[in-house]
Amino acid sequence: TPVLAVVGRPNVGKSTLVNRMLGRREAVVQDVPGVTRDRVVYDGLWNGRRFKLMDTGGWEPDANGLQAVVAQQAETAMRTADAVMLVVDASVGATATDQAVARVLRRSDVPVLLAATKVDDDRLNSDTTELWRLGLGEPHPVSGLHGRGSGDLLDAILDVLPETPRDTFGAGGSGPRRVALVGKPNVGKSSLINKLSGETRSVVHEVAGTTVDPVDSLVELDGDVWRFVDTAGLRRRVRTASGTEYYASLRTSSAIDAAEVALMLIDASEPITEQDQRVINQIVESGRALVILFNKWDLVDEDRRHELERELDRGELQSVRWAERVNVSALTGRATRRVAPAMRRALESWDTRIPTGRLNGWLSDLVAATPPPVRGGKQPKILFATQAQTRPPTFVLFTSGFLEAGYRRFVERRLREEFGFAGSPIRLSVRVRE
Ligand code: GDP
Repeated sequence: TPVLAVVGRPNVGKSTLVNRMLGRREAVVQDVPGVTRDRVVYDGLWNGRRFKLMDTGGWEPDANGLQAVVAQQAETAMRTADAVMLVVDASVGATATDQAVARVLRRSDVPVLLAATKVDDDRLNSDTTELWRLGLGEPHPVSGLHGRGSGDLLDAILDVLPETPRDTFGAGGSGPRRVALVGKPNVGKSSLINKLSGETRSVVHEVAGTTVDPVDSLVELDGDVWRFVDTAGLRRRVRTASGTEYYASLRTSSAIDAAEVALMLIDASEPITEQDQRVINQIVESGRALVILFNKWDLVDEDRRHELERELDRGELQSVRWAERVNVSALTGRATRRVAPAMRRALESWDTRIPTGRLNGWLSDLVAATPPPVRGGKQPKILFATQAQTRPPTFVLFTSGFLEAGYRRFVERRLREEFGFAGSPIRLSVRVRE
């Protein structure tokens, strides 16, 4: 379950807000000056999605002063949670302490939301405008008294909270990364896995601390162990006369879902087929990192190479121009050494998180140079962006009005130009805020 950390000075209405969000009546915890408490974690549920709400608590100034303590709290929140919510009191405005926390949170790698409490009437609603100055994007007004705004706030929180919490995918050095070897029948999948494992003589049978599904193969490549998922059939080279292709396509989906990176084989000696395109679309829709291997390169002569270039120019594989690409031969072993580094690069892009500050700095320059097109006499304003998820990198753009698809694609293209993401799909969604 993903974790949201809540930070804020005492008496800003943090407990009331937390209770509202959890749908409880009585205060679970009170900010009592002089009482230091540890982190408390509650289970939250909204629109059918579960999350954990972590109240970092302990805002009692110590010898180093209140600012040092809250900065420390913010650091802890950023390190341990999947998103952070800073709670400020709109009726007071941003204090020096709030500003100090905001300064810390602006460096955050995880999304940060700003909740403005005690907005009990419309006059105060306009006071929240001032809170933009904290540099944490749009303030979300809420009233603990009436409960107003807390639904919108929860929507916004779930927007930025990843589906899967940090590091459950086995990154961060724990466990081999998972690879799906896919492609149409006879493209060379068995040959490749045999070549890769035979060449290095390194099929591994055990990795400390991991259980290996017997249908998977652990192969050491380029100094790392990789888990090729669902390769039992490939390694045994089972061939059935009937129904092979149906079975193979079922297997493709489950392998892609189980993997982090897809290794897609295309027969370079023949025209790219619709079936190739379909598998690629499936990989992109599942949001996996992608390395395309043009196999049977030993059969590719000058003529075929030009033809292939023309196919690509005509727009085959156009939707995955960003994929890592290697021309290999599973038969001769050509360039198979380059497979693991390509997978590593793709996964690095897949794991990338752009800090909110850097993202918004880039975005405001982009929007200043090329503002979104006017629609219905109105210029939609782009308020801010945040990267809500990695694996694959997923961005949410908050705007004041409808954004045309063309402009959305423009932002996506420039995002790639600026930050790369070679080998990984990226996603961009737009949220209109009134
Ligand atoms: P799979 O169905 O994808 O597992 O494909 P196989 O690995 O069984 O390969 C199908 C056929 O293509 C076999 O006859 C292989 O020897 C041949 N093959 C595989 N890779 C290459 C390659 O790089 N070059 C050439 N010339 N033949 C290959």
